[in-house]
Amino acid sequence: MQKLVVVVPAYNEAAVIGAFHARLAAALAPLSLACSVLYVDDGSADDTWSLITALGSPGLPVRGIRLSRNFGKEAALTAGLDLADGEAVVVIDADLQDPPELIGQLVEQWQAGYDVVYATRTVREGETRFKRFTAATFYRGMEKLSDTPIPRDTGDFRLLSRRALDALRQLRERQRFMKGLFAWIGYRQTAVHYHREPRQAGTTKWNYWRLLQLAIEGITSFSSAPLRLATWVGLMSSGMAFLYGTWVLVKAICYGDPVRGYPTLMLVILFLGGVQLLALGVIGEYLGRNYTESKQRPLYFIDEEFRG
Ligand code: UDP
Ligand code: MG
Repeated sequence: MQKLVVVVPAYNEAAVIGAFHARLAAALAPLSLACSVLYVDDGSADDTWSLITALGSPGLPVRGIRLSRNFGKEAALTAGLDLADGEAVVVIDADLQDPPELIGQLVEQWQAGYDVVYATRTVREGETRFKRFTAATFYRGMEKLSDTPIPRDTGDFRLLSRRALDALRQLRERQRFMKGLFAWIGYRQTAVHYHREPRQAGTTKWNYWRLLQLAIEGITSFSSAPLRLATWVGLMSSGMAFLYGTWVLVKAICYGDPVRGYPTLMLVILFLGGVQLLALGVIGEYLGRNYTESKQRPLYFIDEEFRG
């Protein structure tokens, strides 16, 4: 029988992990595959780890790893994918926002020959209008900016075939925008649509600050458009400066120049100062990423392992 490993990153999910495991076990039972679950405890501060080690369900082997600290979801996922050894791997959140019942459909598409089967949500329930708007703007922006088409309204919930998994494992970059990496590897990809439910219990780990960082992460690791934009803004403003300078010179030659023009002077200085700082900031973003990348640190450390 072919093996299917379900990878679940969990960070402070004590409130929901029991319910999640029960629903997952029920969803996997009808599949004619040798299923197992791999929980990655991303340095939780609550009881998540002890709950994982106590999980048991007949016919569904549970494996757990605990990272040495909280490394963030992307690293936790990477750890899980590194250790998963199935013909197919499913990545799913622990908070029941990704319905485990959908795994059956993901598997069907995989058996039909697809390598990456991602779950695309049709409705975002329990999310504010502002969150929906920012998410839509982000996906649209990414589509324009990046050369890798990143599917819209798609989280990390997906199935990977063995060769897609092997490909993904070779991407060891430290700045990990997983949605982008999943898309970047290519192969045959397809979507399955589903209805996204609100979180069952516990709270989201993504406040707007972290989401903004994720967006910057996504843009900078998949596009150098901001750098090009800085060049264009620089070219445009120097073009305008040249025209305006010619006009000032001609005016001074023809009519003389009584000292005036303080407002114009201030405006130009402030504007150019702002543009320069912005361009420096953009360069800084890329330089900083280059710096973390060049240190070549491991992506995570494993503290404990558990096999049930
Ligand atoms: N998660 C993690 N490490 C983190 C943050 C989150 O492993 O530092 C896990 C979390 O336990 C959950 C999944 O990643 O299983 C998605 O997190 P969350 O539900 O907070 O994100 P959202 O669904 O709001 O995008
Ligand atoms: Mg969630």
